Amino acid sequence: MAAWKCNNCGNTIHADTPPDTCPSCKEKCEYVDVTCYIPECGGPESGNINTQVFNESYKSEE
Ligand SMILES: [Zn+2]
Repeated sequence: MAAWKCNNCGNTIHADTPPDTCPSCKEKCEYVDVTCYIPECGGPESGNINTQVFNESYKSEE
């Protein structure tokens, strides 16, 4: 399963494909694939999330 991060609110979803509408912010938002594909970023213990990609893609700072 892949990890997807809503670029609107930062909510992360684990699914094969991301939903059209984010269940957290209820917006139709762009999803960033933040899945960790290599063991170096923690593997399943980290929720299969590539934290580097996750942090770089986070742009909800106001
Ligand atoms: Zn969202």
